[in-house]
Amino acid sequence: MIYNAKYECMSREDMRALQSGRLKATVKTCYEKSPFYKRKMDELGITPDDIKSIDDIAKLPFTTKHDLRDEYPFGLQVVPQDQVVRIHASSGTTGKPVVDTYTKNDIDMWAEGVARVMAAGGVKAGDMVQVSYGYGLFTGGLGAHDGAAKLGAVQLPTSAGKTEKQIMLMQDFGTTVLACTPSYAMRLAEAIHNSDQVSIDKMKLKAGFFGAEPWTEGMRKELEEKLHIKAYDIYGLTEMCGPGVGGECEYQDGTHLWEDMFFPEIINPETLQPVAPGEFGELVFTSLCKEAMPIIRYRTRDLTRLIYDKCKCGRTAVRMDRILGRSDDMLIIRGVNVFPSQIEACLTEFPAFQPYYFITVDRKNNEDTFDLDVELRADLYTADPQKQAEYVKPLFSQIVSMVGIKPNIRVLEPFGIERSTGKAKHVLDKRDFSK
Ligand code: ADP
Ligand code: ZN
Repeated sequence: MIYNAKYECMSREDMRALQSGRLKATVKTCYEKSPFYKRKMDELGITPDDIKSIDDIAKLPFTTKHDLRDEYPFGLQVVPQDQVVRIHASSGTTGKPVVDTYTKNDIDMWAEGVARVMAAGGVKAGDMVQVSYGYGLFTGGLGAHDGAAKLGAVQLPTSAGKTEKQIMLMQDFGTTVLACTPSYAMRLAEAIHNSDQVSIDKMKLKAGFFGAEPWTEGMRKELEEKLHIKAYDIYGLTEMCGPGVGGECEYQDGTHLWEDMFFPEIINPETLQPVAPGEFGELVFTSLCKEAMPIIRYRTRDLTRLIYDKCKCGRTAVRMDRILGRSDDMLIIRGVNVFPSQIEACLTEFPAFQPYYFITVDRKNNEDTFDLDVELRADLYTADPQKQAEYVKPLFSQIVSMVGIKPNIRVLEPFGIERSTGKAKHVLDKRDFSK
């Protein structure tokens, strides 16, 4: 079902006109209310009058994750606090998280984005949506929750974890729709198949909305077979609101982006210039309706391309190809953001270790693996696993507390890690998200 045909199926000309009006209003607000954007625009010698239509968007400055951290927590908010009704923050990174604040209209817009995605996958009143994304500062839980609410569906807020209980409720309550990360969906599928208490044949699942991390067509196939569902991709990021910036339709042939709310561009991450239509590059978003914290030209670091052909479903909303990877060094491992620099920071707190390390990320049985190779100082080196463990234990704990996920630490012999003369390479990501 198409939730809001007016916007999802708007002609390109009408969409450009709508985007132009909304961009002008957003830029004006930012210039007048945000010292950060005023400074950025002043540096480029532009004022809101230079933005006459959406075609002028490339004149505007970019916003980066660094900018958002510098403005922590509320530097980019342009409304008084009494208009803010919700705050979320992105997970995973050290130090200051990236914060997003929401007015009531922002929450409504966000819920509509998720509702459009879920409606496209057939969700309606009477469905029971089990929200197994984490509830909390993370946008996944409440985002999916509010979207389901907008459709009048039953919200079952199980949050992530307690897998046995999740699958018991799934069967006993007759859950029809599952919303969680694709890796957690795999975990649930596995638990269902290994359980004597529940059986997929007794379940009523028909659809799943999976996102917040990259996944593959192979995983889709497996989830669809194991859970007897259609598995839809849902995309989003905290900076724009959360999940529901876009999602797949019944044809599962690209993620429709809700362009009336978020204007997408693809740029070359090196030159920062727009790429030719249809080419791969870094996805950049400008919020067109956000009230509390509007964002201009946010560099997502996500690498993808945009498809403007009309989709078989009738929607004109542009489609985005699967996210190929990220243009910065940030890894997403088991859904958690990991910067190699965090590992380095941990390592340097333990003088027994050399400051050399190498991370290998892979995906085995649909779960991310995270191997961390390190070196002991040559004079402390020991091949005895028990003695190694004494050194490794505190490092392991420190990484778990800083980064939030558990590495498999391997102690190499002295000089086991390649020394570099130029830029050091710290990461090998063997996961292939192109299939
Ligand atoms: P966090 O920073 O806590 O991970 P976000 O939820 O804001 O918080 O993460 C957004 C990022 O997650 C996106 O920029 C993208 O890299 C990734 N992501 C979200 N949804 C998808 C998806 N469906 N496919 C691939 N990557 C996704
Ligand atoms: Zn479509």
